[in-house]
Amino acid sequence: MNHTSNDPTPTHEELLAALADGELASELLTLCELTDDATLAKRWSAYITGASPWEHEFPDEIAHEIREQLATAILAESVATQPSSDLVDVLLDHAVGSPIPKPEHLFMRKEMRLNTVDEVDWTDGRPEGADSFSVLIIGSGLSGIAAARRLHRLGINFEVVEKGDASGGTWHHNTYPGCGVDIASHYFSYSFAPNSQWSRYYAKQPEILAYLRNCVTDAGMQDHFTFNTEVLSANWQDDENLWLVTTRSTDGELRHIRANVVISAAGLLDRPSTPDFPGLADFGGAAFHAAEWDHSVDLAGKRVALVGTGASANQIGPNIVDVVDKLTVFQRSAHWNVGIKNYGQNVTEGEKWLLANVPAYGRWFRARTLLSQNDVMRPAQEVDPTWSSEDGSISAENARMREVLTDYIKDELGDHQDLLPKALPDYPPFTKRMLRDNGWYRMMRRDNVEVVPARGLRFESDAMIDDDGVRHPVDIAVFATGFEASKMLASYSVYGREGVSIRDIWGDDDPRAYLGMAVPRFPNFFVMYGPNTNIGTGGSIFGQAENWSRYIVDLVATMVEQNVTVTEVTDEACTAYNERLDNRLAQMIWSVSAGGTWYRNSSGRVTTNMPWTSFEYWAMTQDVVLDDFELTPAFDSPASVLTR
Ligand code: NAP
Repeated sequence: MNHTSNDPTPTHEELLAALADGELASELLTLCELTDDATLAKRWSAYITGASPWEHEFPDEIAHEIREQLATAILAESVATQPSSDLVDVLLDHAVGSPIPKPEHLFMRKEMRLNTVDEVDWTDGRPEGADSFSVLIIGSGLSGIAAARRLHRLGINFEVVEKGDASGGTWHHNTYPGCGVDIASHYFSYSFAPNSQWSRYYAKQPEILAYLRNCVTDAGMQDHFTFNTEVLSANWQDDENLWLVTTRSTDGELRHIRANVVISAAGLLDRPSTPDFPGLADFGGAAFHAAEWDHSVDLAGKRVALVGTGASANQIGPNIVDVVDKLTVFQRSAHWNVGIKNYGQNVTEGEKWLLANVPAYGRWFRARTLLSQNDVMRPAQEVDPTWSSEDGSISAENARMREVLTDYIKDELGDHQDLLPKALPDYPPFTKRMLRDNGWYRMMRRDNVEVVPARGLRFESDAMIDDDGVRHPVDIAVFATGFEASKMLASYSVYGREGVSIRDIWGDDDPRAYLGMAVPRFPNFFVMYGPNTNIGTGGSIFGQAENWSRYIVDLVATMVEQNVTVTEVTDEACTAYNERLDNRLAQMIWSVSAGGTWYRNSSGRVTTNMPWTSFEYWAMTQDVVLDDFELTPAFDSPASVLTR
């Protein structure tokens, strides 16, 4: 089906061809929405066995019936354009074959753009005070863009400063071969900016970057972004109740910016970590971190070392193995990989047409995609205190997943079962981030690939030496060795009340915050992707960015409306939140499993992941609890001006 939204109305037959490319369960829900009648969903949802596109067992005749009726409904002039709340509730309870808890329906509706609960609006029009209020956003990745959009919508004066030469954050900086997302794209995108034209179900980096930049230009806010500008420090001015932020441009020019509020959207995985390998300084070949890929280096016919086996390595290895002469993978630990059916698939033209032209289909497809991702790994990640095992598993489900994943590895290794000891992790699944298989085991089978142990790796001028003392001649070394995730707010200095440094509060890598966003003694300062806000159980960081930005901008709007000049989270609120967090975290595998993970800091505390479900965190960030903040009413403080 090659129809675009500008084409004339398709024929019934053309529609059937498009629907043949679509997802049957979403089509059934769409049919019910368009006909304002849930009868068929009630009758046939028993054939829906889950949320993934392939999780249904519709008999052929019912599939045929759904598509025939849906083609007719789409072509009918009188189709309902906005479903009633009651209908959506009923359909949600049939969307994946089993009911969705009622409190989650509001969250689902937001994701489906069926309500506006997610938007921050002025209570009674834009107050005059907004003219003299300003916000500085540090970082122009997907968090910074989400915050910018909300401020732009409210007409609040803001500027985004970005050290890179363009927006996009992690999707701008990471350009390594095979770079892409492993959360399904129709959910890995803002709910306010759905994209019907993803070329793949799991998009690659260039397309995600283009999407993010389009979000900036579509909102008409590109003039608010200042690039090539690194933040050096942020200092709270006790006497002015303002932040003084010092930046340096790439040509060395210093700038001092005063702002009422600072939003740090610098990212969690923004500082690549390259271990200090002995001898590295003497290595004569090219060497670079995956997140700083040197595209001037030609890999063709070279002996390439890939250090690390995490999410980045997993995408890099299978994508360079064809061009290199030899690929030596230096592995400290094997990682678990799961195979996803449509991971490498292109979105069909028919499906794109439905997404672009039938809003109800777009809604239900996003809803089901979300439900196929959010917290799907959770059951195997929660510790069962009654479970005991010798293999480190934490529950029956965790042990079951180990078996499923082990079988998958064996299948993928085919007639190379001799590689199993190298491929099989020695810790339970979900200790580290579960990887989507990019063809890792098939890569291991290749004649030009060798996986070697790397706990005590060292370099010579033209080689690397593995744990067994074996010398591996190498031309190029790629470090897919991760990021300094726990060292949050480390790329610039932050000083709060009375000059206290964030490092005095957090130490090197022990960050804590209220809801992951606010820290006592750092008034009017908010962190996006802060402590314990990473999703470890399956979900989309876009959803998190929407949560953080809504919460922060809601508070900013309250400040403007209520003429408040300072908001500072109380110690009590921050402590109480972190106690709740610790209690829940103790029930998650990352807290107890012996395997290493970037989710923990150097002292073993989980500092990055949140223990909440995506829905729980959405719910707890819905409304600002003003009692948890000390609010200082405005006095005659000087208006802050973002001078450009
Ligand atoms: P990572 O998952 O932390 O993997 C780092 C790898 O380097 C691990 O295999 C680690 O070994 C190894 N390593 C670290 N220090 C080492 C040393 N001194 N000697 C030998 N090996 C060493 O890092 P990443 O691959 O950059 O991924 C980080 C996160 O970024 C991911 O978890 C994900 O959240 C995000 N990401 C996502 C995608 C995606 O969506 N597909 C792609 C890339 C990144 P150990 O396992 O033994 O620690």
